[in-house]
Amino acid sequence: MPLYRVYATVGFLTFLAAKSAQFAGFTLMTSTHFDDFIYDNNTLCGLTALNGNRLIKIRARLVVGADGRQSAVRAKAGLTSQVFGASRDVIWFKLSKQAGDPEWGMGHKGPRHNFIIIDRGDYWQCGFSIAKGEFEAWQSKGLAALRQNIAAVAPFNEARMAELTAWDQLKLLSVRIDRLDKWMKAGVLCIGDAAHAMSPIGGVGVNLAIQDAVATANYLTTPLLQGELRMSDLEKVQKRRQFPTVATQFLQIKMSSNKGQSKRPGKMPAIVRRLPFLRFIFGRLIGLGFRTEKPQRFI
Ligand SMILES: Cc1cc2nc3c(=O)[nH]c(=O)nc-3n(C[C@H](O)[C@H](O)[C@H](O)COP(=O)(O)OP(=O)(O)OC[C@H]3O[C@@H](n4cnc5c(N)ncnc54)[C@H](O)[C@@H]3O)c2cc1C
Repeated sequence: MPLYRVYATVGFLTFLAAKSAQFAGFTLMTSTHFDDFIYDNNTLCGLTALNGNRLIKIRARLVVGADGRQSAVRAKAGLTSQVFGASRDVIWFKLSKQAGDPEWGMGHKGPRHNFIIIDRGDYWQCGFSIAKGEFEAWQSKGLAALRQNIAAVAPFNEARMAELTAWDQLKLLSVRIDRLDKWMKAGVLCIGDAAHAMSPIGGVGVNLAIQDAVATANYLTTPLLQGELRMSDLEKVQKRRQFPTVATQFLQIKMSSNKGQSKRPGKMPAIVRRLPFLRFIFGRLIGLGFRTEKPQRFI
């Protein structure tokens, strides 16, 4: 069966795309957006997608919604969710690397811990954390004021902010934590943030999304190959991934409420510092999560 996925081709995804291209049934369609489901006698049997103005029809036994925290697949499927709220949003932007910059690893940097920095090789991916819903207020204060405020909490001096000359260099990333009640309906399964939007806390959302994808492949490859996919197969994926999702989101919610109330590190990191064995457990949870997934071989 041909396998259609829509990817943004960056980093790990580029690697996956190159590996997947070795399989005869794989087709990659970039810049192609899910539009709606198609039905045959009320049975969901694929989707329509838009590539520019071109409408493409793709027939499929299963549509996997892996389209992130604003998932259109989730919305069109009418799946219901619980929202746990998140008190912060993030203004996302790039700064160029310069000679003499330290070798920062990924994490929160700066005097007030609300500046996020990720080394992307030839540039710094930066995030400035703001109170939820305040982006428009920041816009009305003007770019110069924003640059000044970022410099006050960033490990870069204000001169470096001169690179930020227009609002279209800054993207608002809405932070949310939510979870679908049911990750599926007949013919559709949501995974990753589409099933459970994760906050940036702990930098674990990508791990969970990949683990969901591995569990999906492990449970669904055989029924799909045999043409016998049942609702109960889709339910197995949620059953397997529900506990690690709930447990991780619980920790994120706890940590974000600690952070919101104090400028000092929250209670949880303090406990982890006092009890060294917890450091190991915590590190393992951040690195591997509550439940690891091992890909099965099917060929
Ligand atoms: C500000 C911020 C910082 C974060 N930092 C980290 C971090 O450092 N480490 C970490 O592990 N997690 C982090 N997270 C969480 C992490 O981003 C997510 O949990 C993770 O990316 C989820 O992966 P995903 O593949 O489900 O969704 P995404 O990574 O969001 O990928 C969804 C993909 O679907 C595509 N898409 C969207 N709509 C459509 C459509 N209609 N049709 C086709 N394609 C579509 C998008 O272009 C995108 O490529 C952060 C979250 C936020 C908000």
